[in-house]
Amino acid sequence: MNEYRQKYIALKKEFEQTGQSADSVQALYEYRDFLEEQNTPEAAWVLADVCETLELYGSAFEALRPLVTRTDKKALRRLAKLASFQGTGDRYALRRPHGTARSSKMQKLQAALPHFRYHPDPLATAAFLISSSPVTCECCKSPTQIYYKGPFYTVANIDTLCPECISSGLAARKFDGAFQDEYCLEDGVTDPEKKEELLFRTPGYQGWQQEYWRVHCGDYCAFAGYVGYRELKQMEIVEEILDDPVCAGDWGDGKEEMLAAMVNGGGFQGYLFQCLHCGKYLLWTDCD
Ligand SMILES: [Zn+2]
Ligand SMILES: [Zn+2]
Repeated sequence: MNEYRQKYIALKKEFEQTGQSADSVQALYEYRDFLEEQNTPEAAWVLADVCETLELYGSAFEALRPLVTRTDKKALRRLAKLASFQGTGDRYALRRPHGTARSSKMQKLQAALPHFRYHPDPLATAAFLISSSPVTCECCKSPTQIYYKGPFYTVANIDTLCPECISSGLAARKFDGAFQDEYCLEDGVTDPEKKEELLFRTPGYQGWQQEYWRVHCGDYCAFAGYVGYRELKQMEIVEEILDDPVCAGDWGDGKEEMLAAMVNGGGFQGYLFQCLHCGKYLLWTDCD
């Protein structure tokens, strides 16, 4: 057994024995970053395993694909299974508990992204996907490696947008579209410029039903990703979320049991927001 696999087995054991503690998830993410830098087939096989354990199914597929030969039936079956997650990719992966450090390759891609105030880490939330070969933005016709995979309300049939065309507002203007439904925003923001930024220059997220954008301290919150109860526990914010009127008001006495039934990637899904001013976490949920 090679040293990469030995280390992975030790980390996975820790992950399982601690009931997926935040530290064990963080250690697996850091090991993923390390393996991404190695560029050897031995490391890439283990990278696929680490990604699968973290439920980063899109990344696991990308790591595995160049390694699989046509005669390796077992690996082909595994690749086919991972391919079935291609619609959602890494969207419902376990959350990285601390920081967003990545391999130098990913950091370069991330640094080239425009900043989205209301959706600050669109690579982590899989609002943007990374293509192994460049695709063409349908708005500016430029090649792009990072492209948008989220809602765009327009009559035009648009599949591929680059981050710049979203950030500049060009895509929204050119196709007379919006990235959020303006009737599904929480009340409490009076500044029209904030609303314009959210509707026309911010990548959206993908809900089961109608996406809804939370508001706190007089401003739209930042979308922080897809969550279940497990993720809230790892982040140690269960109490904070239960305090949110969306849970406390609507769910009544059974609110904690209700929250505990929420599984990331399952039929009862959580969408996490964070206030840009006071830092409070807020939740939105829906069902398939
Ligand atoms: Zn573009
Ligand atoms: Zn606030």
